[in-house]
Amino acid sequence: MKTLAYGFPKLGEKREFKSLLENFWKGKIDETQFVDGMNNLRRWMVENYRQNVDMIPSNELSYYDFVLDTAVMLSAIPSRFGQYEGLKTYFEMARGKYALEMTKYFNTNYHYLVPELENAELKLLKNYLLEEYRFFKAMGVETIPKILSPFTFLKLSKVLKRKEEGPFPILELSKIEDQATFEKYFNAVFGVYEEVFKELKEEGVKEVLVEDPALCLELKDYEWDLVEEMYSCLSKYLDIYLLTYYDSVSDYQRYIKLPVKALGFDLVSNRENLENIRRFGFPEDKVLIAGVINGRQVWRACLDEKVRLVEELSKHAKDVIIANSCPLFHLPVSVEPENELDAELKERLAFAKEKLFELRTIKSAIEGDQQARLEVERVKKLLSIKFGEVPEVREKVKNLREEDFVRDVPYQERIKLQQDILKLPLLPTTTIGSFPQTEEVRRARTEYRNGKLSPEEYERFIKEQIEKVIRIQEDIGLDVLVHGEFERTDMVEFFAEKLGGIATTKHGWVLSYGSRVYRPPIIYGDVYRPEPMTLKEITYAQSLTQKPVKGMLTGPVTILNWSYYREDIPKEEIAYQIALALLEEVKDLENAGIKIIQIDEPAFREGAPLKKRDWPHYFSWAVKAFRLCSKAKPQTQIHTHMCYSEFNEVIEYIYQMDFDVISIEASRSKGEILSAFENFKGWDRQIGIGVYDIHSPAIPDKNSIRQILERAMKVLPVELLWVNPDCGLKTRRWEEVVPALKNMVECAEELRKEL
Ligand code: GLN
Ligand code: ZN
Repeated sequence: MKTLAYGFPKLGEKREFKSLLENFWKGKIDETQFVDGMNNLRRWMVENYRQNVDMIPSNELSYYDFVLDTAVMLSAIPSRFGQYEGLKTYFEMARGKYALEMTKYFNTNYHYLVPELENAELKLLKNYLLEEYRFFKAMGVETIPKILSPFTFLKLSKVLKRKEEGPFPILELSKIEDQATFEKYFNAVFGVYEEVFKELKEEGVKEVLVEDPALCLELKDYEWDLVEEMYSCLSKYLDIYLLTYYDSVSDYQRYIKLPVKALGFDLVSNRENLENIRRFGFPEDKVLIAGVINGRQVWRACLDEKVRLVEELSKHAKDVIIANSCPLFHLPVSVEPENELDAELKERLAFAKEKLFELRTIKSAIEGDQQARLEVERVKKLLSIKFGEVPEVREKVKNLREEDFVRDVPYQERIKLQQDILKLPLLPTTTIGSFPQTEEVRRARTEYRNGKLSPEEYERFIKEQIEKVIRIQEDIGLDVLVHGEFERTDMVEFFAEKLGGIATTKHGWVLSYGSRVYRPPIIYGDVYRPEPMTLKEITYAQSLTQKPVKGMLTGPVTILNWSYYREDIPKEEIAYQIALALLEEVKDLENAGIKIIQIDEPAFREGAPLKKRDWPHYFSWAVKAFRLCSKAKPQTQIHTHMCYSEFNEVIEYIYQMDFDVISIEASRSKGEILSAFENFKGWDRQIGIGVYDIHSPAIPDKNSIRQILERAMKVLPVELLWVNPDCGLKTRRWEEVVPALKNMVECAEELRKEL
């Protein structure tokens, strides 16, 4: 029996990855220093594997995103980037002025860059797999190159399409929906993979790890046909170890017949894979990769159960490999440095390094190792002790009734009451919440945290920032103001720190995209609100101006989806607990005279399960959780915000959330996103159009803003439209933000005059 792990976080013990990237971008280090530093991280990753598992993957350290790497490998580089000139072009594609669109990787909070295919002429540009294989081979380490499958790659990509509408054909990027297009690109992509595999074979490589999570999506027959064809051809070169994750494979029968050496299963996200193996058996000639250690949650595994599971699987398959359930990069590196965590909680946690140890322990215990067996027993005892329960909270959730999820007055009447109070012009302008978190702001927060600033001094500092940002917004001429969120490190972490039942870590960083990291909180117990969380800052901001200031909350679904959560009660119950805590805040804000409350739900859409058949259940509780916390007075205008989401298939559910206003991204997708709202019959809610791509330092000019708004005005009544940036401005600089917002406000004013 062997162990395999993959997707170990590349961030490093001290976030070295982030510093290397950012120093390189700033020109503080040159390319050689950059690559040297990255090579150290490569070695560090492999060293971690080597100490614990038998099979070691390579090609796991991308300089920005592994989907982008795959696109580069295939020379899928849109013509606007010109000739490929190494890292320069690479980072242009990732974060330049005309960067690729970014979106969430399946239902996770990792963001990948969406490959754009302009034509089907692809060639091998850079064999990353071979390069990395050689790198480790030179150190005497045999690795198994890992790559995204051609199929999953195409499922994540978009192609340039000609829309023959009107006299001028419009070029548009869209997902591949039809068989002919899919096949055309599939053949092109696949041809390059053959070459990659051929080169590896010539090098003496025997095995390759292929990640194909798209096989967990509901697929069409022709897609499975292509997948079969692909693997039967690629298997001629190398032994393929197939990995699927985040859900069960969608067609077990077709999956187990794929002509590959080993088949991977996620055995933690639901029970379906296991049930299928039990019911239908497993082919004799294949190896079963058992993803038993959860790559997405931080809990110590009940090793006893895992040992028994692997033993059971060994009866179905003659060869079993013990593995993690999905890439480990959803986890922080190690629990060890978390000295401030409650000891009882810390004991229950396992991050990436500890998960590797768990894999090893399971194998050793099965092989009869005495020490491993003791560890299995110890953990079993530890996990049998109850933890984090608050009976009052349980009671409240149990007593919820249907009317707790419904606002008292329907939207069409609410909106009149709200407009009487707010008196906003057409195309009202606002921002999403945060303003630049300058060096100064971050320093003050750190100093407060380590006691250098007293609570009073810190409070005074935050107040100064709030006053400054209110004046700036008034000068710019925005209609609805915000307090700037200077007191918040992160929109989820901030609330997590204030809520009971949720812990935050000091070093538990996880990559979100590029060099951006965040620390997901850990929901370990029943959630409640010990005291108001945002009231002081919001009411202070409102006291400074006649214009409405929005109360800013993070929604229950986002708090849940961007945190690790307990698995002993249903997810929906945790969502309702959080929603009840937020509702207390909403009521406090209303009572203090706040007229607009924005409840951000950027993770609402991404949390949807991979399979559409599971959507009704997810969305039914997600919608209810949002409605529960937003049951405000009819006069209070409820906003929500979702960025970089695809709304096409979920618009129905979004509508059911019953908010008054939603703000969305529109600039990166050049307004494409709006088609979902356009196609929804009877859409009557207000929409804030994101006209400023806040991921780019570029200042949008009035023309580009106008283009997006004009497109919006063509598909939706102008009475429904608001004007705002795509998302919060905290990562931008003041020098960019002020002129950008001025352009935005002026553009709205000009359009208003023309109406
Ligand atoms: N209100 C948050 C901000 O402005 C929203 C962030 C987000 O949607 N990711 O930063
Ligand atoms: Zn956002």
